[in-house]
Amino acid sequence: MNITDKSALRGCTSCQMCAAVCHSNAITIRLDGDGFYRPYVDADKCTDCGLCAKVCYKFDGGIKMTSLDDEEGIDVYSAQHLSGSLLKKVTSGGVADALAKELTEQGYACIGVVYNDDTHRAEHVVAHTLAETDAFRGSKYIQPYSFDGFKYLVKNARTEKFAVFGLPCHIYAAHRYLSLCKKRDKCVLIDLFCHGCPSMHVWVKYEQNIKRLVGNKRFDEVQFRSKVKGWGNFHVAVMVDGVKAFVSSPGQDEFYSLFFSDHVLNDACASCKLRSTMAYTDIRVGDFWGKRFLNDTKGVSAVAITSERGRQLFASIKGQFATGKSSMREVIVKQSYGREYSPDPELRKAMLGCLRDNNSSLKDAVSLFYSKQGVAMKAKRLLKWIDWYLPFDLTRLLKRIV
Ligand SMILES: Cc1cc2nc3c(=O)[nH]c(=O)nc-3n(C[C@H](O)[C@H](O)[C@H](O)COP(=O)(O)OP(=O)(O)OC[C@H]3O[C@@H](n4cnc5c(N)ncnc54)[C@H](O)[C@@H]3O)c2cc1C
Ligand code: SF4
Ligand code: SF4
Ligand code: SF4
Repeated sequence: MNITDKSALRGCTSCQMCAAVCHSNAITIRLDGDGFYRPYVDADKCTDCGLCAKVCYKFDGGIKMTSLDDEEGIDVYSAQHLSGSLLKKVTSGGVADALAKELTEQGYACIGVVYNDDTHRAEHVVAHTLAETDAFRGSKYIQPYSFDGFKYLVKNARTEKFAVFGLPCHIYAAHRYLSLCKKRDKCVLIDLFCHGCPSMHVWVKYEQNIKRLVGNKRFDEVQFRSKVKGWGNFHVAVMVDGVKAFVSSPGQDEFYSLFFSDHVLNDACASCKLRSTMAYTDIRVGDFWGKRFLNDTKGVSAVAITSERGRQLFASIKGQFATGKSSMREVIVKQSYGREYSPDPELRKAMLGCLRDNNSSLKDAVSLFYSKQGVAMKAKRLLKWIDWYLPFDLTRLLKRIV
């Protein structure tokens, strides 16, 4: 039995662990027509060993969501790094970055996600030094190419101790593999609260638009969520030749319009069980959305710790943060945890078709989506424009009053 078996219970998350564990190199990872990473099996090379299916989410009937009644044993905190300059470089409150630094110093090989301007994609890579983990900073809101990072894990799990950072689907796969080879206890797994990942066609088209605007120059850095307008807003920023050469205004935010439309996310994201279980991770980090930090502009992390290993690790970095006690109930209020999406199948098909078409633009896909939305969505878009043009301090004041 391999991952193409008809008994699959659900869709592929694009985690790529199946390809990494295959000793026969029978599985290759490529983008499918809709822009999602998929494994392709070469039947001539497959020995039917079954290992790929053993690490795969599609066949696991035993995944249970962690209900809020089970939150005993999960320690939850708010955390904001004490360094203002570091907060500008990270997406939330900087916990993932501090964990990567601490784990590197403790001798772990850290696997995390960087953006590669040569391949125009996010990638899971291995870091052995503090400097190498700097590139993990900042969420890249696209599916990463994970094969090489996971292949390194598979090849070296017996000799090195690993810390893996990723989305819940990556961490589930890493947990399954490390448990199979009896190395789970030696490793630390850190995942993220997760909304889902959009088709790579969204990023490819968006990136091409930015390249045109900056004269096809090399990107020094891509900030998928720049804090230029504070922590709670979603603006893409790109550094070229050491200066900020592009910051998306509301008229250029097609990337996030499509991301939050929920219509062009990977199939598996719609009813993903992994973002709603804490069973495979040591620590989950995310944004501390909700009332408590509504007016914060620098960024606050939500940290949920499930294991003794995670507790010890967080204790060793806690001194770098302003922290507060919280609960799963509080941090998931504005999260996709426990939720499912129901995209309109016809609209999804039309939007993905538009993204695939070289003659269509991102604006065409966004217009398709907006044409089906009501007054509330129009009002929200108008507010975004107002927010963009008003001075930052004034919008903060207005938000506080509202
Ligand atoms: C696709 C995606 C969806 C997300 N959805 C939510 C959400 O709904 N709610 C929420 O609270 N938080 C979400 N997050 C997490 C959030 O954006 C921050 O990554 C998290 O709070 C960590 O920020 P930080 O300040 O602690 O550290 P940072 O220094 O900003 O660390 C970022 C970490 O994310 C990892 N990473 C970056 N890009 C990816 C990627 N594409 N895939 C896997 N790992 C990656 C890096 O390796 C690093 O460890 C999402 C992240 C991604 C990538
Ligand atoms: S879910 Fe992961 S392991 Fe399963 S087929 Fe997809 S990429 Fe492979
Ligand atoms: S069954 Fe074994 S050989 Fe075949 S694709 Fe899966 S891991 Fe590779
Ligand atoms: S929603 Fe689930 S399948 Fe989709 S990216 Fe997040 S963890 Fe992976």
